[in-house]
Amino acid sequence: MSEKISIQENGDEDRVVVEPAMKYDVAREDITFHTPRTEWYAFINGESVSAIDGTWFESTNPATGESLGRVARCGAQDVDIAVRSAQVGQQRWVAMDPSERSEVMYRISRIMQERAREFAVLETLDNGKSIRETRDIDVPLAAEWFFSHAGWCDKLEWTGVRNPQPHGVVGAVVPWNFPLLMAAWKIAPALAGGNSVVLKPAETTPLTALLLAEVCRDAGLPNGVLNVIPGYGDTGEALMRHPGVSKLAFTGSTAVGKKLRSIAGDRPITLELGGKGSNIVFADCDIDAAVEGVVWGIYMNQGHVCCAGSRLIVQESIHDDFVQRLESRMARIRVGDPMDKNTDMGAINSTRQADMIRGHIARAVEQGAYVIEGVAPQSSCYIAPTMLVGVHPGMDVWQDEVFGPVLSVSSFRTAEEAVEIANRTRYGLANGVWSSDGALALWVASKLRSGVVWLNTYNMFDSSSPFGGVRESGYGREGGVTGMRAYVKGGAR
Ligand code: NAD
Repeated sequence: MSEKISIQENGDEDRVVVEPAMKYDVAREDITFHTPRTEWYAFINGESVSAIDGTWFESTNPATGESLGRVARCGAQDVDIAVRSAQVGQQRWVAMDPSERSEVMYRISRIMQERAREFAVLETLDNGKSIRETRDIDVPLAAEWFFSHAGWCDKLEWTGVRNPQPHGVVGAVVPWNFPLLMAAWKIAPALAGGNSVVLKPAETTPLTALLLAEVCRDAGLPNGVLNVIPGYGDTGEALMRHPGVSKLAFTGSTAVGKKLRSIAGDRPITLELGGKGSNIVFADCDIDAAVEGVVWGIYMNQGHVCCAGSRLIVQESIHDDFVQRLESRMARIRVGDPMDKNTDMGAINSTRQADMIRGHIARAVEQGAYVIEGVAPQSSCYIAPTMLVGVHPGMDVWQDEVFGPVLSVSSFRTAEEAVEIANRTRYGLANGVWSSDGALALWVASKLRSGVVWLNTYNMFDSSSPFGGVRESGYGREGGVTGMRAYVKGGAR
């Protein structure tokens, strides 16, 4: 079975379009796992409430444009009530025996597993990502985060902090690319440390965090311990500025992260920001595995991944062969209906994001890149897997975070050169190295300036393994002992 390759004339730019040869019958997930709602309320002090000023905003399915209901838009007054309720809730939570807190967290994880298909369907509806990924990655990993952190509740001295105490109220703001998972990455360690939480989900994807809050209540989490306040950036900023918030936890863009760092003052803050990761592929690697790893690294979640391997630096001697293999592999990536279980890449989360991605591609072409792309449905919400060949480190696309399914390809001759090219970025979140020579791979890893380096794999996440960046990718870690340590402070003996 071979794919069809056609050259399209598009203005003055030549594009290679790799069309898929395989045809599949549609196998849609049963969307009745989610019961549609017309209204989604904020979750404050264990109750579903409207915003004080009665403001709402719409959450829509990016793949269809259909409304998923109107959502309470919280303002400064709602933020204040949520933080006060979290202060009282935190006292209730910390008064419980650590083993009881642990039991509640295990129950949260168990209920998430029992309602996994409901969470997966809702996340796919609200975000546009494929059901295959929400079902196999987002929801199981989020449940794992609660399960794993449940075990920390009565073992906090193992964080290495003397007489560990909670900070109090954690203010958490998360982005739209992994809405449920990013919420879990903040809420689970915060609760395990004896803190309460006020969470502001992203404006385009607030729904699964609200469902999670209901699950937490059903699992026995006392009122006020978790509060979810939907809204836009102003809601997030009001939360982070609130003096009742003792620890700030943010995942999102570097620009907003920088602003929050100044707002934090002397309060502790963890920042998980943008990235520009590279996969460095040596000629001696397992080529088939590397092709899969590079594809997974950039096209997972439509490329909306902070640690995406958006740059490929391939050894010159295998450059042409590797690019050709990637081209063939791209032909088998299916883009389309996110609810179809065959779909690899779903819809782009918003028109704004899709326009930004297209702008990056156009600029790269202007600067001399050559485009190879797969096939996507003719709709503005879909973008085909895209590879830009002939990119050099001086081009914008080599430096800027595209946050979409766009791989930039460059080449190297020596390991030193590969390291130098990969480090030429203001970010420092993640990189990957592909080689059969363990010593070489470890040497390269030791020279790369990033919080994470994957060897012969990419985009692997585990609750016991710390994840986070350096430089403009932020600071602080999520996961593992290091991640847990951020949610406790040393108390007097
Ligand atoms: P964004 O910074 O615009 O928004 C993220 C969240 O911050 C949203 O909830 C938004 O409403 C809120 N926000 C916006 N302005 C704010 C303000 N002034 N004060 C407080 N909150 C504010 O980012 P985005 O476009 O939603 O997300 C994409 C970015 O997130 C990318 O740069 C990506 O790399 C990054 N990201 C990083 C990680 C990581 O772990 N390092 C994970 C996922 C996404």
